[in-house]
Amino acid sequence: MARYTEAKCRLCRREGQKLFLKGDRCFTDKCSYERRPYAPGFAGKLRKKLTDYAVQLREKQRVRRMYGILEAQFRSYFKRAEAQKGVTGANLLILLERRLDNVIYRLGFANSRDQARQLVRHGLFTLNGRKANIPSLLVRPNDIVEVRETSRKVPVITEAQEVIARRGCPAWLESDGAAFKGVVKALPTREDIQFPINEQLIVELYSK
Ligand code: SF4
Repeated sequence: MARYTEAKCRLCRREGQKLFLKGDRCFTDKCSYERRPYAPGFAGKLRKKLTDYAVQLREKQRVRRMYGILEAQFRSYFKRAEAQKGVTGANLLILLERRLDNVIYRLGFANSRDQARQLVRHGLFTLNGRKANIPSLLVRPNDIVEVRETSRKVPVITEAQEVIARRGCPAWLESDGAAFKGVVKALPTREDIQFPINEQLIVELYSK
């Protein structure tokens, strides 16, 4: 499956915001964005006035990169969000939050969504007692996510659990680190997504 393989910190600098793509490093003074909070490249420090289109595009890229999703799949989430009842922008963010790789990250079983995706693909988790190796699976209320018994000593999982306190677990999930288990208490709401996102800009971009 295709994925973005270039330097992740460049993405934060390009988007002008910390996207927390590198796990614990993002919370330390080694963070590239903290040290160089401007876009990469020759013209990175120049202040440019963005057109409306550029503002919308940047917002979409920011969210897409934060969740680590390629364009075609992101657009298909948008179409699905549009077809649902309710507010399209909020629906889109909720769909992204429900992805299994995001849930693993939120529960503190991985340090980043990228790492969570890799661990899921390697078959380290179960969903409702069955092996789940598809990162894009969407969780539902009362779903139970567990680290498989054979994978509980994998260092990246134990390390990730040590740093979950810094991020905190969202209210729609319940994490039981000692039991290597998490429960989806309810579907996430727009209010559960604390990261500053103006999803209406994405709706406007895709509605042109
Ligand atoms: Fe972004 Fe994390 Fe790199 Fe900082 S360390 S620039 S937050 S990926």
